[in-house]
Amino acid sequence: MEFMKVALLFEELEKTASGNDLRDLLSAFLKDLSEEEISVVVYLCLGRLGPEYDDIVLGFAEKTVLKALSRASGVSEKKVDSLMVTLGDAGLVAEQVLARKLTTLVPVESLTIHDLYAGLIKISHVSGSRSVEAKSDILVSLLGRCSGVECKYVVRIALGTIRLGIAEMTVVDSLAIAFIGSKKDKVDVERAYMVCPDLGYIASVLQSQGVGGLSKITATVGRPVKMMLAQRVTDLDQIEEKMPGSVLVEAKYDGERVQVHKLDSGVVRLFSRQLQDITLQFPDLVAAVSTHLKCSSCIVEGEILALGENGRPLAFQTLMQRRRKNDIADYVSKIPVVLKLFDVLLVDSVVVMGHQLVERKKWLNAIVLPGGAMELATNMVMDDVYEIDTYFRSMLDAGYEGVIVKSLDGSYQAGHRGWNWIKWKKDYAGELVDTFDVVVIGAFHGKGKRKGGYGALLCAVYDSGSEKFLSFCKLGTGLTDTVLEGLNTVLDGNRVKEKPKNVESGVIADVWFSPIVVCEISGAEITRSPSHASGFALRFPRFLKFREKKATDATTLVEVKEMGVK
Ligand code: ATP
Repeated sequence: MEFMKVALLFEELEKTASGNDLRDLLSAFLKDLSEEEISVVVYLCLGRLGPEYDDIVLGFAEKTVLKALSRASGVSEKKVDSLMVTLGDAGLVAEQVLARKLTTLVPVESLTIHDLYAGLIKISHVSGSRSVEAKSDILVSLLGRCSGVECKYVVRIALGTIRLGIAEMTVVDSLAIAFIGSKKDKVDVERAYMVCPDLGYIASVLQSQGVGGLSKITATVGRPVKMMLAQRVTDLDQIEEKMPGSVLVEAKYDGERVQVHKLDSGVVRLFSRQLQDITLQFPDLVAAVSTHLKCSSCIVEGEILALGENGRPLAFQTLMQRRRKNDIADYVSKIPVVLKLFDVLLVDSVVVMGHQLVERKKWLNAIVLPGGAMELATNMVMDDVYEIDTYFRSMLDAGYEGVIVKSLDGSYQAGHRGWNWIKWKKDYAGELVDTFDVVVIGAFHGKGKRKGGYGALLCAVYDSGSEKFLSFCKLGTGLTDTVLEGLNTVLDGNRVKEKPKNVESGVIADVWFSPIVVCEISGAEITRSPSHASGFALRFPRFLKFREKKATDATTLVEVKEMGVK
C-alpha cells in the first residue's frame, strides 16, 4: 500500500477530537491492511518504529532534517530556515517546500509503507563517523518519493514528533472493533497486550489468525511483560476486608522495579517498570543472575536497592545515579546494589503467572542460589492486622518503605493494579507528635497468633465534666509478645461482668474492665467518629507503655478537642 493513504489517514486523525471517532477511523483503516502493513501502521500511529520496549532511535537533529529538506526540494537552506522560524514545525515546512512533485526526467516511484519502514529501519542501523550524511542521504531519497502531505509526516516521524492523540489503549480498542466487533469485546486484546506489549505484533496476529490467534500469545523470555501493580488502602483494617485469612506480608523496598529475563542462550536482559532495557547499567546484576539463578531460562521480578556501607538501603535518588550512559564500571563500585527478588513469571519455558503466589514462591526459592548481589525479599505469612502493623513497623526500622500485603492464592496479573497486592507505606501512617494517656476499658479476644489471649484493647479518654471514661480507640498495634503475655496479669484483676457505669462506649468489647489501667499510645490523626462515645477516634493507635498514673489523670476529652480534628 502507498504511504499516501496512511498520510491521509493521519490528516483525518489529527483533525478528529472525539475519541470514539478516532477509534472508528483507525479500525476501519486497519482492517484492510496486510499482516506486515498493519504492524507498521500501528507503530507509526503511536509515534514509534517498534514495540515500546524496543528503543529504535533515528537520531535526527532538526538542523539535519531541514538541510535534507533543502536538498530534496531544491529550496535554499536559508529559505527553509526562515520558513521554520515562521511555521515552527518542520513537518509543515516540509509540506510547503515539497508541495509539488519534483520535476524529474525519470518518473518517481511512489513511496509504499514497506519501503518507508525499510528506509527508516536502515537509518536506525547507521552508525560510524559519516553517519549524519549517510542518514540524510536515505531521508532525502525517501522524501524524493513523497508529495507534500506525505513529506509532512515523514519529517515528523524522522524527528519523533508525530502527535495524533492515539494512545496504546486507543489502538487496543480499535483492534477490538476491527477484528472482534466492538470495543466492549476487547478483553482478549487487552490480555494479549499485557503479556506482550507489542501492539504491532498483536495486530498482525489478529490480521492473520483472527481473535483465536491471541490465545497463543503468552509470556516469552526476552520480551517484557507489563508489570503487576499494587492497590492502596486508607486504613489498615481494610486489608482484612479485601484479603480475609492468611496473607503474605513482604518488605516494600524503595528502589527500582526490574524484570529479569534469562534466556536459554545465557543472555540476560533487565527491563525497568517502563519496559526500558536497563541491562547495560547493571553489569553486576547481570553477573549475579548468570551465576545465581539455577535454571536455563526464566523471567523473575524484584526491586533493585542501593546499599550503604552498613548494609542499610540508600535513598532512591542515590540508586538513580546508576542509570547512566558513562562511567558505568565506576558507579558499580561507587554505588553497590542488591536485587531483592519477589516473583517469578516463567521457569524453564513454563509460564507460571497463572499459578497461586504460594506456588510461585516455591519456584522462586528453588531457583535462587543465595549469595552475591541477589536475595529473596523478606516476608512472613500472617493473619492478623495487628501482626501486619507490627511487621510494618519493623520494616520501617530496617529502613524500608513499608510492606506489600499479597494474597497467597493470587495469580500474577500482568499490567493490572488489583487487590492481590496491597501496599502500605509509611506516608499513609504518619504519626502525631503528641502521645495520649488512655484508660483501658475493655478487650477483644485474639485471633490467629493471638488466639487464646487478648488481641486488642478498647481504650478511653476521660471527660472531667461528666466524670466518665469515653471510648476513643481500639488498640492492637505495638503490643509486643511480652506485653501480650503480661496482659492478663495487668488487667484481669479489674475485669467486670458488665460495662461499668462510668464507662461509655458505642463499641462493644468482649470483656469489660473497671477504668484503672493507663497506657501511653501514639497515633496518626484524630478523626470524628460516630461509634466511639467520645465522638472522636484515633487512627493507627500504637501501644508505647503502661503508665503509673491515675485514670482520672489520663488525657481528657477537652485535650483531644484541642489537639485538632481532621
Ligand atoms: P509507589 O510509589 O508506591 O511505588 P507505584 O505507582 O510506583 O507506587 P505501585 O504498584 O503502586 O507502584 O507499588 C508497587 C511498587 O512497589 C512496585 O512497582 C515495586 O517497584 C515496588 N516494590 C517494592 N517492594 C516490593 C515487593 N516486595 N513486591 C512488589 N513490589 C514491590
